[in-house]
Amino acid sequence: MHGDGRVVRDDLVGQLNGAFDVLIVGGGATGLGAAVDAVARGYRTALVEASDFAKSTSSRSTKLVHGGVRYLEKGDIGLVREALHERANLLLNAPHLVDRLGFVLPLYRFRDAPYYFAGLKAYDVLAGKSAFPSSVYLSRRATLERAPDLRAAHLHGSIKYFDGSFDDARLALALARTALDRGATVVNYVRAQRFLYAGGRAAGAVVRDEETGLDYEVRAKVVINATGIFVDELRKLDDPSAVPVLAHSRGSHIVFAREVFRGGDALLVPKTKDGRVLFAVPWQDHVVIGTTDIPVADPALDVWPTNDEIDFIIAEVNNYLQRPVTRGDALAAFAGLRPLVSGKATTTAKLSREHFIEVSRSGVVTITGGKWTTYRKMAADAVDTAATSAGLAAAPCPTARLALHGSPAPGTFAPDVAYARYGRDRDELLALEASDLTLAERLDRRLPFTRAQVVYAARSELARTVDDVLARRTRALFLNAEASRASANQVASLLAAELGRDDAWRRRQLAEFANIADEAAPAR
Ligand SMILES: Cc1cc2nc3c(=O)[nH]c(=O)nc-3n(C[C@H](O)[C@H](O)[C@H](O)COP(=O)(O)OP(=O)(O)OC[C@H]3O[C@@H](n4cnc5c(N)ncnc54)[C@H](O)[C@@H]3O)c2cc1C
Repeated sequence: MHGDGRVVRDDLVGQLNGAFDVLIVGGGATGLGAAVDAVARGYRTALVEASDFAKSTSSRSTKLVHGGVRYLEKGDIGLVREALHERANLLLNAPHLVDRLGFVLPLYRFRDAPYYFAGLKAYDVLAGKSAFPSSVYLSRRATLERAPDLRAAHLHGSIKYFDGSFDDARLALALARTALDRGATVVNYVRAQRFLYAGGRAAGAVVRDEETGLDYEVRAKVVINATGIFVDELRKLDDPSAVPVLAHSRGSHIVFAREVFRGGDALLVPKTKDGRVLFAVPWQDHVVIGTTDIPVADPALDVWPTNDEIDFIIAEVNNYLQRPVTRGDALAAFAGLRPLVSGKATTTAKLSREHFIEVSRSGVVTITGGKWTTYRKMAADAVDTAATSAGLAAAPCPTARLALHGSPAPGTFAPDVAYARYGRDRDELLALEASDLTLAERLDRRLPFTRAQVVYAARSELARTVDDVLARRTRALFLNAEASRASANQVASLLAAELGRDDAWRRRQLAEFANIADEAAPAR
């Protein structure tokens, strides 16, 4: 990290040949959380991410920071309490990236009211003393005032409860930068190829810089496998006899203009045709609706909703809307894969609540499952386990109250100013605009993202591709596939100038992103 706030990837790659206490493989929520945790405890820490930070599941969530009302229905009280506790921590540690959000659970049969009301009151109790307001019953009239697009026929009223929403990919970046600020080596587009061993113990990994093809030997006292849906691949590399522990299921979402569900609250559909919950979440001036649950045979980095899933989501949400939506109204679609622990784990494995931790014979710590909301707890468990396994000097976990990168001073966050989601870094974006007025221009009139964000992403957020900028540094791809396609040319040119790339690179980037934008277009 340079004094001027720049983060230079070459410098980070150069550090990889060094010796560390902890090497983390995987730069999603879990791995990045573990990097923050490990470096904050004083361990020398490195993290390699094969693609971009949060490229996989961690940028494709339903955008909820939540206790999980559906777990409550299953009676998993401990899990809900833990997640509610983490919800509160996140709001404190990253107020610029997490919002309190009201959820309307509409009641079309009056007899459902006591059941849901009691459940959501229990949710309040489990949250304890909380920065989130308590659940309330709303009359039919009050419900329609707050959610004017809800189907009015047969509506009795609703229960309104509170949870959080967040920008998942930008939270991942905030974690990466928090770890970097504290001296960790955290780098994207570096893939772990194989483990290194000393005396039968894993002692690091050979990693490949995907940009140059060069290999590096990262020495570490312990390795954490935080590769999400890919953990079985790494487990097999470490121990060819390892039995796979994961099954995978796809969850899809579609995104509409804000007008589809006005009023500022989210909608919770408590039971879809396939017995799941469905959310319509106001997010970045749009509405994200999802999700589905479709078994998938093999994990893949880039997954997309099928036409059937899009039709399913539209049919389900239309049961609750006064003005039905069509596929033609949808602006973007995205999907993620859930790592489902199948229970075939070995005896050394333990299924801690919803997440899975295992220490292999060679000492590799694998962690997967859980949810974004509980990443901090998962990270703490992983680092505790790693420290014990490697005999590192004991150090308490300090992350429960650790402000993440960019976090404004308590009580000073103003959500409505330009670049609010950058927290304290917004001054750097404003300075870029002041230095060159063309940087204040928008990439596309349909979305708020500016040229300054591209330059900032390249200089300070390790953005390396057009997709990095349009999918995760800004969220253009997730909000409006056509607008992101229209932005790609400018992004490619700005990035090429920042990263010193030639015209052939620029054209390749445009071709690759055009394919991605095609997939993200729901009317394809
Ligand atoms: C559809 C859906 C909706 C969800 N919604 C919510 C929600 O609203 N709220 C919530 O709290 N949770 C939600 N979750 C859960 C949450 O998104 C996940 O728990 C979390 O993102 C998992 O993060 P991870 O870091 O474990 O995995 P990932 O994000 O998959 O990260 C693993 C990383 O490892 C990298 N990798 C793989 N192999 C290698 C290698 N050899 N070398 C280096 N790197 C490698 C991958 O490129 C990837 O980036 C949702 C999940 C899904 C699927």
